[in-house]
Amino acid sequence: MKKDDCIFCKIAAGEIPAAKVHEDETVVAFEDADPMMPVHVLVIPKDHYDNIADDIPDATMASMLRAVGTVADIKGVRDSGFRIIANTGDDACQSVHHVHLHVLGGAQMNDGDPCAR
Ligand code: AMP
Repeated sequence: MKKDDCIFCKIAAGEIPAAKVHEDETVVAFEDADPMMPVHVLVIPKDHYDNIADDIPDATMASMLRAVGTVADIKGVRDSGFRIIANTGDDACQSVHHVHLHVLGGAQMNDGDPCAR
């Protein structure tokens, strides 16, 4: 299902452009438009869910997490390491209310950083 006026729904549907890294029937992964790290990819389900605590089917959740490993391989950070972040709600400064996993890597991180915004 798709939500009107959701920018990530439009990316999933191909209605607005994104630099896609990976796609299957359930998820899309694309480059963050304002990267915080050398590797900064967003993994989203094609169906709309507001955030990671929404009522996401198990199979969709699994597909999102599986896609993280695929993205790590494509971006060459599986061995060097990476971080996944799911900003959820106002206290976490979630700005796009379509669930997404930030995949961050490509440089040394320190404890406590980076927080995805
Ligand atoms: P969050 O603050 O966790 O909701 O993260 C939303 C992320 O989406 C931010 O890192 C933005 O840079 C990114 N973003 C917003 N619009 C786009 C877009 N059209 N294409 C790619 N990334 C986007």
